[in-house]
Amino acid sequence: MLTGMLALMSAGLTAGAGPLPQDTRGLWPGAATVVRGEHSVVIGHRVPLADLRDLASRADRARRTVGRIWGPVRPVILFPATDAEAAALAGAGSTGGLAAMATADRVIVLPSGYARLSAAGRDVVITHELTHVATGATRGGRVPMWLSEGFADYVGYRDAGIGVREAAAELAAEVRAGTLPARLPGAADFAPGAPRLAQAYEEAWLACRYIAERFGEKALVRLYGSDVGSALGLSRAELTAAWRDHLRRELG
Ligand SMILES: [Zn+2]
Repeated sequence: MLTGMLALMSAGLTAGAGPLPQDTRGLWPGAATVVRGEHSVVIGHRVPLADLRDLASRADRARRTVGRIWGPVRPVILFPATDAEAAALAGAGSTGGLAAMATADRVIVLPSGYARLSAAGRDVVITHELTHVATGATRGGRVPMWLSEGFADYVGYRDAGIGVREAAAELAAEVRAGTLPARLPGAADFAPGAPRLAQAYEEAWLACRYIAERFGEKALVRLYGSDVGSALGLSRAELTAAWRDHLRRELG
């Protein structure tokens, strides 16, 4: 009852973010709490109000970052009570190790993974997932996975103030030990439970960071939906070789 009242109150006080998306109105009847940020909407299920408010301000920050680099996006974030609830909402089978997921129009928090993150880590994750929403999480197939995941991390880490060797710790350890990845990561490398999952994300992130450094951020943005080779004027082999050099320089 209390959460229902709070939901009504916060919905009545601020209207800046517009009406709730249709299919979120029936979520958790009587037990949903709606918190509106400046331009974001957060809907929680048995989550403390302070945590929802904190998430709404992170979502507003993430929206500004995504807006600067990619374009407008409206953050709608669901914060369920359990990971199982989150997986069901996302229609996902395995969610091991994740802190949040994106669907076509919203971000879904995985409570246990999210709870383990630092404040900076939460900003990175929310910005990463919101980037997926902005670029169209379901553009699957047309955009290689290293580009969609790498770009989401590029936006996520861009203003995070986290050093490269820290953010790419697992990959840095391999590079320092003398092992460089032979190729850009493919879809199987990003499967939940893949043995080098952390490294796959780090490889993808640094590929995008390298492209932005060499060709400019706008060129990286233009890569979406275009042929990577012709957009950059590099063959796949040339891009791979340049990226491996970049990893050696940045992490070695
Ligand atoms: Zn992602």
